[in-house]
Amino acid sequence: MTTSPTYPDLDGRIAFVTGANAGIGRTVASTLSDNGVTVIGLDITDESTDDDQFDDLVTDGELVIGDVSDPEDVAAAIDTAESYGRPSIVVNNAGIAGNGRIDEIDADTWRRSFEVHVEGTYNVCRSLLPSMAEANGGSIVNVSSIAGIRGFGSAADYSAAKGAIASLTREMAVDYSPDNVQINAVAPGFIKTEMNASVWRDDEDTGRWNNHDTATTKTLIPRLGEPEDVARLIVFLASDASSFITGQVISVDGGWSSW
Ligand code: NAD
Repeated sequence: MTTSPTYPDLDGRIAFVTGANAGIGRTVASTLSDNGVTVIGLDITDESTDDDQFDDLVTDGELVIGDVSDPEDVAAAIDTAESYGRPSIVVNNAGIAGNGRIDEIDADTWRRSFEVHVEGTYNVCRSLLPSMAEANGGSIVNVSSIAGIRGFGSAADYSAAKGAIASLTREMAVDYSPDNVQINAVAPGFIKTEMNASVWRDDEDTGRWNNHDTATTKTLIPRLGEPEDVARLIVFLASDASSFITGQVISVDGGWSSW
């Protein structure tokens, strides 16, 4: 469904969005498209639990299948994006769930979490920042997590990787602000996507803190977040409306991180 554009300055721009075929990434892609942006998505799968295909969600752009942790896949996806023009919006959103306490996570699982979240963000930023700097403008939004900015529980690999993304965001903002590239991160709380469906569908209780009641008790606003709650913040950070904001990790968690 197309809605009226919120940020007219976005019209005609090109965005590269990872993890674009589900949850938050899908909603970011469609919201950017509603604002006139051409969206090239990168995702490890083109299968979806939604009836809509990616092509149905965006007016201009396409989904490229590839692994964000593989530099060759990222290079191929960026080639596709550049065939539309110069990307000036980048959303590093691809992610996988955490796997438990540190003693429960084997080395391969630990490495995979860092490959997807940290190396994925590295692969994309390293490839696209030079052209953004040369063009003297653009916006990168990385997706961290509440788990990356405070203790969370039973997600040691995920929390460490999301913390690295928060640090990398600040570091890149320092390095690229002279080139007029804004680099921020969002830190969502509990958002209703497939990643944590076992919590909000309430069909599985792991026996630890992460059941539906505990999740909603931790937020000041007593509900779980929707992908739109995060997408609206990301699109704001991509637009000129946020032109004096960089190097920030902004929470969108119903107030959870405030106490
Ligand atoms: P999701 O599972 O619905 O979507 C994640 C998407 O990333 C999927 O389309 C998946 O196929 C894709 N993906 C996974 N690994 C990939 C890879 N190696 N290469 C390319 N694509 C890959 O989850 P979501 O909740 O929409 O998550 C989006 C981002 O938000 C993630 O970075 C996640 O860590 C973060 N986040 C989510 C929540 C939440 O509560 N849902 C909270 C905080 C942060």
